[in-house]
Amino acid sequence: MGKLDGRVVIVTGAARGQGEQEARLFAAEGARVVVADVLDEQGETLAKELGALYVHLDVGEEGDWRSAVTAAKDAYGHVDGLVNNAGILRFNALVDTPLDEFMQVVRVNQVGCFLGVRTVAPELEDGGTIVNTASYTGVTGMAAVGAYAATKHAVLGLTRVAALELAPRRIRVNAVCPGAIDTAMSNPALLDPSADREETSRALDELYRKLVPLGRIGRPEEVARLALFLTSGDSSYITGQPFVIDGGWLAGVSIV
Ligand code: NAD
Repeated sequence: MGKLDGRVVIVTGAARGQGEQEARLFAAEGARVVVADVLDEQGETLAKELGALYVHLDVGEEGDWRSAVTAAKDAYGHVDGLVNNAGILRFNALVDTPLDEFMQVVRVNQVGCFLGVRTVAPELEDGGTIVNTASYTGVTGMAAVGAYAATKHAVLGLTRVAALELAPRRIRVNAVCPGAIDTAMSNPALLDPSADREETSRALDELYRKLVPLGRIGRPEEVARLALFLTSGDSSYITGQPFVIDGGWLAGVSIV
């Protein structure tokens, strides 16, 4: 028995990184996964491997969301879960951030999450789940990522309101708040086909050894296991909550 047998789950930004690992784990747990992304080639390849459905979905586009839900229902008959995972990061001091850049981050991280909840929630079966991807920068500040941190704080607000509004239908809405995770977002070397993946990850572990109590960067598979918990019946009495997964980074300040 898989933890998601018979459930249909849409995962955005699923072509690579955390979304890819969520799609893989959910499929292994019996879900019929809808792999959604703007990276069509990678997304289609993954979907083929998993026996899943790929849909082109730019999370900032209302029309794409409507098409994605229609495609999911045409293929599988119903939708039980959504993981709003797609996101982008831009580095800049707030005073140097052009409005266009700020709005680009808002469009994907915040509007994308809002449109996902607004479009998919009415189509979810009662008892369904939504997992929004925030960040540890959704619960604390971090210099040089102002636009990103603002959107991730907003994702937590959306999560709490959606949890309250959807509870009468037993739809649970929670958020994951990853710390530094070894994907292209924190480790752009992963996008270089000639880079040695293990070597770049080792270098990052070394960087995070002193920053993070558990002494290493997180792995996308670890976030996927948290998303699975929040999508499965194992979390049946939990809604409206942020879950930090950061190797203890936000636990406190250490002087040793
Ligand atoms: P990633 O860059 O590997 O993956 C992001 C995915 O989102 C990609 O597949 C990308 O194509 C997709 N995407 C981007 N814009 C999109 C759009 N408009 N519509 C649809 N898909 C789009 O990085 P990741 O670490 O896997 O990121 C997943 C989520 O985790 C993001 O929301 C990110 O903000 C969050 N997060 C990441 C870290 C980290 O350190 N990696 C930390 C905290 C939170």
